[in-house]
Amino acid sequence: MFWADKILEDQKGKQLINDSWTPSGIVHMGSLKGPVIHDTLFRILKEKGTDVKFMYGFDDFDPIDGLPADLAEFHSKYLGVPISIAPSPDGNGSFGDYFGNKMKKLLDKLGIEAEMYKTSELYSGGKFNDAIIYVLDHAQEIRDVYGKIYKKEIGKDWHPLQVICPNCGKLGTTRVTSWDGKEVSFSCEEDLVEWAKGCRIKGKLDPLNGNSKMLWKVEWAAKWWTFGVTIEGAGKDHASAGGSYDVALQLASDVFKIKRPLQFGYEFFLVGGKKMSSSKGIGLTGEELLEVLTPQVARFLMIKTRPEQAVEFDPRSPDIIPRLYDDYQIAANSKDDFHRAFMLSQTGGAEKVPELRFWSLSQWIQFPDMESEIKSEGLENWSSYAKTWVEKYAPGDIKFSIQESIPEQARSLTQKQKEFLGKKLLPEIDNAKDPEVYQRNIYEWAKEYGLSSAEAFEAIYKSLIGKDHGPKAAWLIFKYKDIAKKRFQEIAS
Ligand SMILES: [Zn+2]
Repeated sequence: MFWADKILEDQKGKQLINDSWTPSGIVHMGSLKGPVIHDTLFRILKEKGTDVKFMYGFDDFDPIDGLPADLAEFHSKYLGVPISIAPSPDGNGSFGDYFGNKMKKLLDKLGIEAEMYKTSELYSGGKFNDAIIYVLDHAQEIRDVYGKIYKKEIGKDWHPLQVICPNCGKLGTTRVTSWDGKEVSFSCEEDLVEWAKGCRIKGKLDPLNGNSKMLWKVEWAAKWWTFGVTIEGAGKDHASAGGSYDVALQLASDVFKIKRPLQFGYEFFLVGGKKMSSSKGIGLTGEELLEVLTPQVARFLMIKTRPEQAVEFDPRSPDIIPRLYDDYQIAANSKDDFHRAFMLSQTGGAEKVPELRFWSLSQWIQFPDMESEIKSEGLENWSSYAKTWVEKYAPGDIKFSIQESIPEQARSLTQKQKEFLGKKLLPEIDNAKDPEVYQRNIYEWAKEYGLSSAEAFEAIYKSLIGKDHGPKAAWLIFKYKDIAKKRFQEIAS
């Protein structure tokens, strides 16, 4: 049974799936794995006729606690300010909208049909008011959970809430010290965090309707309690023991007294065994991923293996992308779990998958005048992805271009190889009607000449493209017939 069907086997009754992301930096390809997995579960439940809703949240009430390098200079004054309040670098909307809109575009491409929300609006709209009062009233139970997990004493002046400082506008620098049932006392501290400095005022305020924010792990559990979330997984960075997911689950049982949502963790993508990291330039952004993988193939990459399995995805590894397309084609025609992964990767109806391998397509697109073949084989869509692959990620020997004069490499050919080009391949070009037949004959002709097929093809490639190997030789010869004829003649003489 496909892993996603398996984990949903015992989910009975009405379901609410939630997933969320903090829009404070570029969308890494790994950030798409959560939405794709949750959307897959959503689809399966819909298919079963379950009453199910999928909510996807932008956690934009979190404070900015770091900045991408290109924004460090102009945005540093907003460190500590909620993402929804700091302005967008491009002047349109908030800092959170700037990154959130990029994510939204990618989710649309991936065919993800969640109801999207901004966490800042849940606060300002009063949707979390009950939760805020609840966590303040039950602060001691939360201290107990934290104390147990982190094995330390949590003081009575600790509260699971931060307020937006009415003086400096920062949230990350504030600490709530007491709660009287109506207002919280707070202080805005200079040294609470390393990444932002508070203004050192103290005061009292009403924490409801957007004036405060629950600490992130508490907020997570509060979402489950407020909305009745029944299913939510987490990435490995959150899902480890003592991590935020672990704490939120504990709070759900011990403080909110609710049934924990169906839990599962999912692993990272790796590059050469290392975790992908956009800040270190390892791995791809979501935009880059969807330039080289169709949305369907990208979904397939994220769900074909069990989520807890780390997936190696170095886009520059010579065959990792063509092999993924191969797998996708195989899955389209198989009948097992692989096919189930294929079906759940579709966006808007099952697509007719091309028969030509991505690998071959990457060569086709480098030939001149292939537009009509590409069109008649239904390869127009995939060919733009193949172009990106060839340009950005394919190993150098995939790329070829016909040389205008005899390549240096052709000078090392043996006399026999040179004669083979001029006396055998050349006259047969005009006799041949079909490159397929010509291609098969090359093997025979090589034998007649006492050459191995490797030597025969080496002669062709070195004389036309200056490389040891290349695309299907007969295609190369027929696409550049005039050049090939002239070249074989020159080399043989
Ligand atoms: Zn302040």
